[in-house]
Parts: sequence; structure tokens; C-alpha cells
Amino acid sequence: MPPDYHMHTPLCRHATGEPTEYAAQAKQVGLSEIGFSDHSPMARDDFDDWRMKADELEEYIRQVKQAQTDHPSLTIRLALEIDFLPGQEDWIRELVRRHPWDYVIGSVHYVSSTWALDNPNQIDEWERRDPDEVWGTYFDWLTQAVNTKLFDIIGHADLCKKFRYYPNRDLTPDIGRFLDAAQATDTAIEINTAGLRKDCGEMYPSLLILKKAFRREIGLTFGSDAHNASEVGMAFPEAVKMAKSAGYRSYCRFEGRSRKTEPLP
Ligand code: ZN
Ligand code: FE
Ligand code: FE
Ligand code: ZN
Repeated sequence: MPPDYHMHTPLCRHATGEPTEYAAQAKQVGLSEIGFSDHSPMARDDFDDWRMKADELEEYIRQVKQAQTDHPSLTIRLALEIDFLPGQEDWIRELVRRHPWDYVIGSVHYVSSTWALDNPNQIDEWERRDPDEVWGTYFDWLTQAVNTKLFDIIGHADLCKKFRYYPNRDLTPDIGRFLDAAQATDTAIEINTAGLRKDCGEMYPSLLILKKAFRREIGLTFGSDAHNASEVGMAFPEAVKMAKSAGYRSYCRFEGRSRKTEPLP
């Protein structure tokens, strides 16, 4: 199986289990490589309550290094999942500089400075919004994220489907602009199996988006978005199957932010 590059830790305040337990589970399910990509701090610690504080970054690195020490037979990468919002570029650049990360995942959860469209505590906001606008902003911000060239991988590239509020208009041009930008900047995307556990009941992104990504030769990684140890490597055989049905025959590995291509199993 390809590595699981999207895993969280309790420092984000909505995950359970120490990194070393995730690593043990990874070996249990037969993975030879994983990567932690916990929710990065924001410039202001009071931005929201579902991420580590800025002064916890060192503790995060320490916990992942502990997992590396405990599980020498497993390759364990150290990364971040960083929220992209327009205007945050300087902060993101600063975070990226703070440590020699193996890769950096850029994710859009917020489509305004106060609303994260995937937050179960803020689901009511969907009733007040026009899904066409939300989806439009989501893919516009994803495109902007890619164009900063600050990210190696874009996380769960159609997260806006999570709660099944679908758009009425055709999003093809918006998705095309995002994928064109990813192609131009050599930014990878991931198959994120967490969507299977959510209302949408399917992986992120859709097979349609994945096929379009393959045609543009956009690199691919895999992630469970595990928020507890039992989710590590979840549905990876199905994810590999989906990658292949989109046309993919290879995936990407990262070390020190440099990318290698490997054949899919
Ligand atoms: Zn999370
Ligand atoms: Fe995310
Ligand atoms: Fe995540
Ligand atoms: Zn995520």
C-alpha cells in the first residue's frame, strides 16, 4: 500500500491517541511508511479551537520524533496540514520555514474568516449560504492556495461536499482552474478516505476530479485523515482501486519536500 500521509495528533484538540499508537496501527495494517500532518497553528491562537497553539509546534515535532524512535522499521514523515485563507501567506511562509518538513499539505476549510465549511459545530451556516457561492469560493481559494507555491499537496480537494450541500450551477470551470494551477505548479493532490466516514459517503476528491487530475499528470498521495489510531490506512485498497480507475499507475512520496514517484501496488 502507498503511505498514509494525512494523520492527526491530540494536539489539534479533536483527535485521540499518541503518534506512537498510530505508528503501531500502521504496522498492524501493513503500511511501511506514514506521515503526520496535524492542523497547523494560526497566526493568532484564538482564531479557533481545533488546532495546536503556536507554542505547541515543538511538542508536536517531539511526539512525532518519539514515534520514529519507537518504530524504527517504519518510515515516519513529519509534515503539517496548513489552512489556506487569502492574506495568510506570510504566516504560512513562516510556518514552512520553522522546520525542515517532509511535505506541506495545504487545505481550505474556511471560506470566510469565521466559517469552516466542514466544522460540524457550524453546520447551520450552510442553511444561510448559497451553495453555488460556497463551492465557487472554495475552489477559488484552492486555486489561490496552489498559486502561492507554498504547498506540496492539496488536502481533500472537494471537502465542500462533506455535508451534502451540493451546488446548482456547473462547477466545471472552477475545478478546471484549480487543476490547471496544480499542473502548472507541480502541486500534488491526495485521495483522502475520510469522506467515506462523513455524510457525503465518498472519498475526496470525486472520481471525476481525479480523472481530470490524471489527464493533467498531477501527482497523487493517499491519506486517511486519521483522528484516531483505528483510522490509519482506512480503505486504502479501495483508494488504490479508485486511483487506478482514474488512470493512475503511480503515486508520490516525499522526503525533505522533494518528491519521488513510485508505482502503485
Ligand atoms: Zn481535524
Ligand atoms: Fe482538513
Ligand atoms: Fe486533516
Ligand atoms: Zn483534513
